[in-house]
Amino acid sequence: MMTREHTRCLIVGSGPAGYTAAIYAGRANLNPVLYCGMQTGGQLTQTTEVENFPGYPQGVDGNQMMLDLRQQAERFGADIRDGELVKADFSKKPYVLTTDRGLEIEAESVIIATGASAKYLGLPDEEKYSGQGVSACATCDGFFYRKKVVAVVGGGDTACEEAIYLSGLCSKVYMIVRKPYLRASDVMKRRVEQNEKIEVLYEHNTLGLYGENGLEGAHLVKRMGQTDEQRYDLPIDGFFLAIGHKPNTDIFKEWLDLDEVGYIKTLDGTPKTNLEGVFAAGDCADSVYRQAVVAAGSGCKAALEAERYLASLNG
Ligand code: NDP
Repeated sequence: MMTREHTRCLIVGSGPAGYTAAIYAGRANLNPVLYCGMQTGGQLTQTTEVENFPGYPQGVDGNQMMLDLRQQAERFGADIRDGELVKADFSKKPYVLTTDRGLEIEAESVIIATGASAKYLGLPDEEKYSGQGVSACATCDGFFYRKKVVAVVGGGDTACEEAIYLSGLCSKVYMIVRKPYLRASDVMKRRVEQNEKIEVLYEHNTLGLYGENGLEGAHLVKRMGQTDEQRYDLPIDGFFLAIGHKPNTDIFKEWLDLDEVGYIKTLDGTPKTNLEGVFAAGDCADSVYRQAVVAAGSGCKAALEAERYLASLNG
């Protein structure tokens, strides 16, 4: 059995960034090999309909869109494989990455598009109502809660942004914040405070969710000081998590410059990392925009840079 393979261009991840990189690298005759990772199709397969990706006037099912992107990449010769890369050795060129089946891939260039995963509270009810009231993306799913009552969990910039976005659609937005204050930047705090549709529930935690046919509400607890607590049920139709994302970059942290949260640092608006021939695209390198269309754009840039880099190697 072969335990080592060689490729000119290895793409890690199968979200919009990874597949777009594969389309461009395939068309440039780089014969890219793409590993899908732990969730084939990435975060968009977790949402229902994507309505804000340009080119789909009627919207598109997230899973369908990812299948379309995959087929498009395959049409140009991308070798798309199930499985994860579990180890990276960037100590020398060619770089070597190891799959979960023990295959070593020697790569002249690497495009990292491993995405980020939304954090959840860890309540069993979050899974139970997933897609039926629980979401970790207001821009993806907010539209389905028009004129309804929703809650956003978290007190950072993302939570404020999501709450403000939802306030444009929903009749009422609660923010469930565990501290007595918002961690968000001053400007976002001010916008939240001035928004009549948003009510911040400080010092609140979620104990569980309830509902017979989909989500109907949340069991909350307000803790004041060490001993005082008040438990009650809050009727809501939607429960949005905004407690941060975790970029999927663990296997690269030994080699690449990451920010304090783990996002890959790229150079001057390009997908270049601190290592020659290693590029980062999509949410694993983007803590700010986190949109499919932005990820797709950065996947394109990464493939163009990989192509240039490989051409420079050959004089
Ligand atoms: P943050 O880490 O800044 O905030 C996470 C929030 O979730 C905090 O309020 C935190 O509470 C809360 N939280 C975390 N875990 C739990 C839990 N288990 N239960 C309840 N609450 C919890 O993440 P963001 O995604 O908001 O932001 C990430 C980075 O991206 C930040 O640097 C932010 O400034 C930046 N950003 C910038 C934007 C912009 O400039 N427009 C937009 C969005 C993000 P606590 O405060 O108690 O820890």
